[in-house]
Amino acid sequence: MSTHAFSPPQRTLMGPGPSDIHHRVLLAMAKPTIGHLDPLFIGMMEEIKSLLQMAFQTQNALTLPISSPGSSGMEACFVNLLEPGDKVIICQNGVFGGRMKENALRCGAKAIMVEDEWGKAIDLNKVEASLKQHPDAKALAFVHAETSTGVQSDARAIAGLAQKQGVMSIMDAVTSLAGTPVEIDEWGIDAVYSGTQKCLSCVPGLSPVSFNECAQSVISGRKTPVQSWFLDMNLVMGYWGSQSKRSYHHTAPVNSLYALHESLRMLEEEGLENAWSRHEQNHQALRAGLEVMGIQFVVDSADRLPQLNAVAIPEGVDEAQVRSTLLNDYDLEIGAGLGPMAGKIWRIGLMGYASRKRNVLFCLNSLESVLLGQGLSLDAGAAVKAALAVYQ
Ligand SMILES: *Cc1c(COP(=O)(O)O)cnc(C)c1O
Repeated sequence: MSTHAFSPPQRTLMGPGPSDIHHRVLLAMAKPTIGHLDPLFIGMMEEIKSLLQMAFQTQNALTLPISSPGSSGMEACFVNLLEPGDKVIICQNGVFGGRMKENALRCGAKAIMVEDEWGKAIDLNKVEASLKQHPDAKALAFVHAETSTGVQSDARAIAGLAQKQGVMSIMDAVTSLAGTPVEIDEWGIDAVYSGTQKCLSCVPGLSPVSFNECAQSVISGRKTPVQSWFLDMNLVMGYWGSQSKRSYHHTAPVNSLYALHESLRMLEEEGLENAWSRHEQNHQALRAGLEVMGIQFVVDSADRLPQLNAVAIPEGVDEAQVRSTLLNDYDLEIGAGLGPMAGKIWRIGLMGYASRKRNVLFCLNSLESVLLGQGLSLDAGAAVKAALAVYQ
């Protein structure tokens, strides 16, 4: 028996990630593989580190991509910074805050939860109260951009509260990085992790992280070894650390790093601030079109993520059918709701290279056709017209 070559179709990826990947990034991946300790490769790794410093807006020397997906960046922050018995305050307003708790517990740490309703931003008053109530907390962890709900929280203010109490901050910037402002040094974030397949529009499977000097000294001064050998930053540093004496730790995903290098170069060419405003403009155009179709956003306008549009499913619509028709007939992927939001919302991503006019208009037009097919009474063409008005 012989199997056929796998031939994935050309989809438009407007879900919660992965996002569309520019052909420049895909072509970079097809370049010849070289050894991961080859001096030329090491030179490229150094460039990735400084490009990531630009993306994170940080001078942190310990800034690098971990060789596994965003979830491992989360795990790296928790296993390196926490030891058994430590107390960590975790803000939860969606799926990913819950995963932070799982990580903290597996480190033998005590998780103090600050919970907010799904679809709402993190409440600063609750954070402040929790910090006052637990002055012995070692760290405060929060998700900047909750991909499960489309909510953005005030990262600068949250980090400021932690700093005032002398508590380290750990931030999830998986969905926010390169889509909305992320300013690690300016905001005083001690540890941050992200992912490559959201607004960086690179292949999935890498997790950029950054630790400041305070976090670094916590890691090097641990009493107990980091329970994960692979994610122990003390060891990873020997590999990614100095250019001169690099030692084998694991084999870097060479070609994936070519892709990351190229996607970061594209971000540098565009300019971070231009990337942020592009995400905002496309979000406004999509919003205008959806609203004309009577589709409502579930998040207050002040807290919406431009790169992840969470909208309520219109009455009388078979939502799974809509998504599968979009996928099968239009090669368009949009996201379903997660957890308690399942069946109630769609998550329309406009991340990275997927955040462009063509996708906004294509999505509105396709969604309109499918909803008309399900019997909704809509003014055909009105959504695209409303979106175009935003671009004018
Ligand atoms: C996607 C995502 C993650 C996990 O990233 P993976 O690459 O899927 O492991 C973590 N946090 C947030 C907020 C995310 O959106």
